[in-house]
Amino acid sequence: MPKQTNPQLVRRLKYFSEILGGMVFLVGLAALVGWQFDVIFLKRILPSLPIIAPNTAFSFFLGGIVLLLVASPKTGEKRHLKAVIYIFSSFIALVGFFTLLEYLFGVNFGIDRLLFSAAQGEAAVRMSPQSAFNFLMVGVSLLFIAGQEEKKVKVGQAIILLAGIVSLVSLFGFIYNISSFYTISPFKGMAAHTAVSFTMVFFSVLLIFPDFGFMRIFVIRGLSGLAARRLLFVLVCMMIAEVLATIGRRTNFYGYSFEILIHLVVILGSFVYLIFFAFRSLDELGKMETSLAKSQELDRSKTEFVGLASHQLRTPLTAISWYTEMLLKKDFGDLNAKQMDYLGEIYAGNQRMIDLVDDLLNTSRIDMGTLKIKPELVNLAEVMENTLNEFSPQLNQKNISIEKKFSRNLPLSKLDSEHLGIVFQNILSNAVKYTSPKGKIMVEMRRQNSHILVKIADNGWGIPAVQQKKIFTKLFRADNVRKRDTEGTGLGLYIARAIVKKSGGKIWFESKENKGTTFYITFKV
Ligand code: ADP
Repeated sequence: MPKQTNPQLVRRLKYFSEILGGMVFLVGLAALVGWQFDVIFLKRILPSLPIIAPNTAFSFFLGGIVLLLVASPKTGEKRHLKAVIYIFSSFIALVGFFTLLEYLFGVNFGIDRLLFSAAQGEAAVRMSPQSAFNFLMVGVSLLFIAGQEEKKVKVGQAIILLAGIVSLVSLFGFIYNISSFYTISPFKGMAAHTAVSFTMVFFSVLLIFPDFGFMRIFVIRGLSGLAARRLLFVLVCMMIAEVLATIGRRTNFYGYSFEILIHLVVILGSFVYLIFFAFRSLDELGKMETSLAKSQELDRSKTEFVGLASHQLRTPLTAISWYTEMLLKKDFGDLNAKQMDYLGEIYAGNQRMIDLVDDLLNTSRIDMGTLKIKPELVNLAEVMENTLNEFSPQLNQKNISIEKKFSRNLPLSKLDSEHLGIVFQNILSNAVKYTSPKGKIMVEMRRQNSHILVKIADNGWGIPAVQQKKIFTKLFRADNVRKRDTEGTGLGLYIARAIVKKSGGKIWFESKENKGTTFYITFKV
């Protein structure tokens, strides 16, 4: 079963993704307004930074809208909004793709002056190659993310990682003053505000569906999710501290030696924190293991108790059965009609109790692992005939017909005849119980290659499709039979399957509600 996620955390991260998407939209919008009205400070965002190219501004503007639309639950199945998402994302990818082609082949498609033809140098109007690559990645990633299905989102997350790496490397280039991190000579480099905007797009895409793909490890409940979050937290704190330490030195706030001191303190501090956290987690894990062992122990003693109690009940119940049987046979003299009637009821009630106690006993043996199979050469047809004979009163009472198709010369099989009888009994009793009067049961036995196939089919109430997976589970009873028959325990098939498995065989079924059920069992010859 997949681990559960923390819905509150998922919601918060989605919200954060929307904020980032909104900021990207605003950066794009500001630069576009700057280009439209020739406001230089808007084109630069910060006075010391270079101008944002028009296509870069427009792509961020569209990207921000797509991020906000994908994140909004209102978008849902609205087709026109989905169309907007796909058109905008494709546009972003195409801008990146054609700009890359321009760089690769030294051509000019004129796409840089499509939006604004104002006189500016080529360098100002064309985005850098890294930005072109990143827009291609962002556009394609958004196309996948917009699919909103886990598989597609995973691909989208993987693609955006490439854009994330490029923008983070550029950002570190600016922080550590290494120009080769953000420029590919002889072309112009990615600008600082562009790198920041791409980083925002990167995180926004990752956080838009935090419960999908690899992001899931950060939002799952329990110790593993907590560990992933803590480690990420330490990593982010370390990076921020390291960056601040470098900026402090670069702005001459302190010298090299003090910067190195800060780096050392940050690294040592992080390690101390991690050791502390690992210790606490292992401690917690140890406690969880102890409580698990305790509950397993408790389970075992409960099963042991049920086994013991059933065993003690079995002897007096058998005695009651014998005595009532003798009385019913009039071994000790005549009885009047009323006495016979009541004795009959006692006998039937006692028989039900014996069946239940046997089921409990077998279940406890299965759960304790003490179910012993004593194989001997068995004639399966004989065991089936005996079991069918036991059911003749019920079959007559419900007027259910039996069709038998036993192949002649069925080989003998090495099985435990007593346990085999229990399997047949459980399957047949279900077929009788869950088939309406005047129904039909077909029992077939034949050799199939190196196996013997046993098939028991009825035309009864069937098993609802949605509940078929659970039918062999202990204590499970389907809704359709629960409504009509209140007596079952839901142990019969659990026991039957355990015995068949332990005997090296296989058991399965096919069923259609209101049409019927067929059980198949195979044993090796
Ligand atoms: P029980 O019969 O005591 O309820 P079982 O373990 O023998 O328990 O069977 C589990 C459930 O499987 C039944 O409650 C019923 O819902 C379903 N089932 C098994 N066999 C049949 C059948 N032949 N026809 C319809 N439902 C069946």
